[in-house]
Amino acid sequence: MKEFTIIDSFFKQRSYQRKDVLIGIGDDCAVSSVAAGQNLAVTTDTLINGVHFPENTSPQAIAHKAVAVNLSDLAAMGAEPAWINLSLSVPKVDEQWLDEFSQGMRELCEYYSVQLIGGDTVKGPLSITITAMGFIPEQQALTRSGAKPGDLLFVTGTLGDAALGLDVVQKKVEVPYKFRDALVNRLNFPTPRVLAGTTLRRLATACIDISDGMLSDLKHVLNASNCGAVVQIDKIPLSQALLESVEPEQGIQYALTGGDDYELLFCVPEEQKGNLDRALLHSNVAITCIGQMTGQPGKLELQLNKQPFNFNVRGYEHFS
Ligand code: ADP
Ligand code: MG
Repeated sequence: MKEFTIIDSFFKQRSYQRKDVLIGIGDDCAVSSVAAGQNLAVTTDTLINGVHFPENTSPQAIAHKAVAVNLSDLAAMGAEPAWINLSLSVPKVDEQWLDEFSQGMRELCEYYSVQLIGGDTVKGPLSITITAMGFIPEQQALTRSGAKPGDLLFVTGTLGDAALGLDVVQKKVEVPYKFRDALVNRLNFPTPRVLAGTTLRRLATACIDISDGMLSDLKHVLNASNCGAVVQIDKIPLSQALLESVEPEQGIQYALTGGDDYELLFCVPEEQKGNLDRALLHSNVAITCIGQMTGQPGKLELQLNKQPFNFNVRGYEHFS
């Protein structure tokens, strides 16, 4: 099968269609329009076989994750996703693999009304680079840098499940059979918090998506906002699957430092708490207040039952 045939049958024909795309796959560039009053948010993430997903991950899961991690970055800025570009490196033309991969992409794209508008296809080690683009109304981007001392600190969903899921896949831990799929799915099929992100535009002072572990990503917010934070360990939201699968200390370790959660961490002024609860009712995800920002730049304090809690670990960092 030739390169164009691959592109045509697996990507062009299957791509979800949006009205704002004037020229999609097939020409030298894609051409699309941005409505007046909107800014364009752009982000790129690469997933490499064996690094960002285990070697035996299904093509559908790889596609889902590649799109989802990019949509998660858009969500963290408060952007509404619109278009993606796909740069795909595959070792060989495996039609079955491409079929399942493109199907997985299509499903998530359709769910979020995202159109695949272009890309590149090359032969090489399996890796997937996606660039995602979305809209933010002018002046409303949610950055990491706007948090103020006193702001409440929240996270969406539950933390640590994906990291435990990875250890399950890699046979480093055993969990009750009934939780296995749920945990592995949290690793392979992360849910980008798109609706929560756009809803937070007018409420949050700062926002980031948790990809490298909660503490590690919180530190980015502290640095960018020139604040400190107190985090109440006992408030961290943990899933039933995690709680019933590992010892409490280990659960906290997963939740604080495990990667791949793709939940949002955000700051909201205390007086907005009521508005926040109301606004997020329709966003399909629970939020939990886990602490508060302080005026001590860079200082991250952990507390258990309001007492200082020592915990020396770091999130996953590439090159470290
Ligand atoms: P060029 O040589 O001009 O870069 P290509 O042959 O690489 O063109 O791509 C032809 C068309 O197919 C372009 O519109 C490109 O954006 C699109 N395309 C190539 N690979 C992919 C892919 N994996 N997913 C989506 N679109 C792709
Ligand atoms: Mg090309």
